[in-house]
Amino acid sequence: MKCYRENLVGVFGDPVDENPTGAILQAGFDAMKLNYRFITVKVSDGCLEDAIRGMRAMNFSGIGITMPHKQTVLKYLDEVSPDAAIMGAVNTVYWKKGKLYGENVDGKGFMMSLKEKNFDVAGKKAVVLGAGGASRAISVELALAGVRAITIVNIEEKQGMSLVDAINTSTSAKADFVLWNGSYALPDDTEILVNATSVGFSNEKDMPNIDYGTLKDTMTVCDVIPNRVTTRFLESAKEKGCLTFNGLGMLVNQATLCFKLWTGENAPKDVMEKALKKEFGIEE
Ligand code: NDP
Repeated sequence: MKCYRENLVGVFGDPVDENPTGAILQAGFDAMKLNYRFITVKVSDGCLEDAIRGMRAMNFSGIGITMPHKQTVLKYLDEVSPDAAIMGAVNTVYWKKGKLYGENVDGKGFMMSLKEKNFDVAGKKAVVLGAGGASRAISVELALAGVRAITIVNIEEKQGMSLVDAINTSTSAKADFVLWNGSYALPDDTEILVNATSVGFSNEKDMPNIDYGTLKDTMTVCDVIPNRVTTRFLESAKEKGCLTFNGLGMLVNQATLCFKLWTGENAPKDVMEKALKKEFGIEE
């Protein structure tokens, strides 16, 4: 018998109007002929509890969580993954053994990008710029993957210190904090550098305020900015001979992880990558 009911998935956030996740995932569902419908939903601050109740009532198969709800959502879920608990942030919700379960795939998408190029982080020393949502997810995943030490560099102390405390308390990596109040000179022994700030997102000319003279070809440099193939930050690193990773890989990889969690099927990554590039007007 034909089923007219669609499996609902989507994203809750505010602002969310310009979030491209739906275009990427829907392209994947359509390519696989899966009866899933992605809905991008504006859920304002203070309305999340009702939205999650609605999700349960309407039998959503899963939901993505974006700002400002990534931390608040934890209290409305039945369970969260151990690493999302360390981060204190969830960006994907799905059903696991009948329970509404929270996971964070931001950092996992980042780690997949590195693994795809056989880049192993174990035993290395990392510097992560920023201490917001993306930084928390990436830094904790780096620590759980065996990074030896992580320096968190942030313009505000409280956020930075809370991330450092979370890493030192719950992982074997040694984390420290540097207050970012001028041009940041990279320590000589840095092996991985990540721009996890929003600098470079709205204005492509903006670059994180580091001393670019301290970049060395032994460093691997990553930028999370998700709407460009390259950034001025990455171009400077390339000029120094560094291996670089852009934020597009992280975005597509985390969409493929959501796809699997929500449908149980392996995602058609090529189709989803193409859809993302089309949304951002990026030439193949
Ligand atoms: P948040 O707002 O949570 O964090 C932003 C971070 O950037 C904070 O640490 C903030 O510092 C810092 N920051 C902002 N302006 C400056 C500045 N001028 N100099 C130094 N630091 C600054 O945002 P998210 O972590 O959610 O997002 C950060 C970036 O990551 C965005 O560009 C987002 O698009 C991208 N992203 C990419 C993903 C991908 O898949 N590629 C996934 C998720 C996010 P403070 O808090 O102290 O003000």
